[in-house]
Amino acid sequence: MPLNPQQMQTVSDWIKTRLGGVCPICKGQYFSYQDMVSLPVIFGGGRTSASPMLVIPVSCSGCSYTILLAEFHLNFQGNVP
Ligand SMILES: [Zn+2]
Repeated sequence: MPLNPQQMQTVSDWIKTRLGGVCPICKGQYFSYQDMVSLPVIFGGGRTSASPMLVIPVSCSGCSYTILLAEFHLNFQGNVP
């Protein structure tokens, strides 16, 4: 699911405030993030949750270092596409 412009800005702000806008691995300053993806939540015994975990992959364009930001911590309420 593509991020809307407001969500893109939230992720950009997160990168600036939490990473200082700099990749912790290669010190690059360019990041790629465009989509929200869902991950299955698997409990003990192999059961899966009815509600997947929504995350935003953020990748460094220089070295491919990638982190996942949890949607529910980014305060996206009210601006889900
Ligand atoms: Zn990097």
